[in-house]
Amino acid sequence: MKRISLLGATGSIGKQVLEVIDVNSELSLVAFSFYNNIELALNIIEKYRPQMVASPLEKYHDVISKKYPYIKITNNICDITEINGDDIIVINALVGSSGLKPSYTCLNKGRDLLLANKESLVVAGEILTSLAKEKNVRIIPIDSEHCAIAQVINGKQTSQIDGLVLTASGGALFHLSKEELKNVSVADALKHPSWSMGAKITIDSATMMNKGFEVIEACHLFNVTPDKVKILIHPESIVHSLVSFNDKSMHAQLSVSDMRIPINYAINYPNLYDNYLSKELELDKIGTLHFYPFDKERFSLVDTAVMAFNKKGFYPCVLNASNEVAVNLFLNGKITFDKIESIINECLEKTEELSKGLELTIDNLILVTNKVKQMIEEGGKYESTCD
Ligand code: NDP
Ligand code: MG
Repeated sequence: MKRISLLGATGSIGKQVLEVIDVNSELSLVAFSFYNNIELALNIIEKYRPQMVASPLEKYHDVISKKYPYIKITNNICDITEINGDDIIVINALVGSSGLKPSYTCLNKGRDLLLANKESLVVAGEILTSLAKEKNVRIIPIDSEHCAIAQVINGKQTSQIDGLVLTASGGALFHLSKEELKNVSVADALKHPSWSMGAKITIDSATMMNKGFEVIEACHLFNVTPDKVKILIHPESIVHSLVSFNDKSMHAQLSVSDMRIPINYAINYPNLYDNYLSKELELDKIGTLHFYPFDKERFSLVDTAVMAFNKKGFYPCVLNASNEVAVNLFLNGKITFDKIESIINECLEKTEELSKGLELTIDNLILVTNKVKQMIEEGGKYESTCD
């Protein structure tokens, strides 16, 4: 039996984790966190009867404790990573920088971290990977490309890896020119061709910042440098990523686009467990798969991400924080699509100033994240509604 402690149960990944739990009698939900979706949180409590529930918004605590007095309720989402038991599996399906501290507390507790929240690795990759090493625990990726690479590498020597190839669907706006990209609407940017995901990652896919984040994520997870990570446009999202080996062979992982496959893999790692939810991949019906080169000029945020990764220190943190605020502003109709990139570039230029004298620690990464948010909001130009 495995008991799952789920950060972000009310999100797109969180809900799919619950579906995986539903069809596996060896899994149960011991604890979860949510943010604003109290209605769904109450449904989850009613169905799974967890021991602990976390939400940073205290206004919801009373509603829960009145109806379920035996449940421990906390406003510190990190608490659910530290719940006692040898059979606990922690899954981080939070969005954005809210996932950073829980990733840290999970590893620090000496627990494997099943990670969808790629932003934690973008912001604090070095801290988290060295902590995992020190505590002798693993970071098991749920992001489909990284899960694919982990499956391909499984059991092979990393010294035999020549390079990694991350596939990218191209997002909702792949067919548009740089000029046309300037004024796309929120609705258009949210129409992802192959995946149904939370709003932030869907916009990150449209700007390709998501792929930039994934290059950084791959570098941390598989201990490679960005020049070893290529991007290949693959609109069908069937080949989830590839690894090239020193014998000039390439190995790939293929499946239908369904996040319950990587979730199921991560939960049962290193064993393969039956998947009762996903469709079989019928290549004979698909017939043709397409691959196109990635246009770095058109989607320059990937290079921006690589630059931030190479500069190290607080650069990846400022990259992530400025993107988070800019995407929120775009989603709230406060800025145009092309402004996302310019806000990120303006903030990155201020990285030294924002982090002056600060040691690279989790708390200081959170501090700088908040400084970036404040700086953009106090800029006043955008009347931000973000929190
Ligand atoms: P969603 O926006 O759908 O869900 C986010 C979750 O985090 C919700 O449970 C939400 O709570 C909670 N949350 C939001 N803000 C806060 C906060 N400030 N503090 C605490 N909790 C918060 O995101 P996704 O599920 O799409 O993505 C989750 C992560 O997985 C991201 O890092 C994304 O990049 C990654 N990922 C997602 C994929 C997908 O298919 N969706 C694919 C690959 C990676 P509530 O809803 O109650 O407000
Ligand atoms: Mg991905």
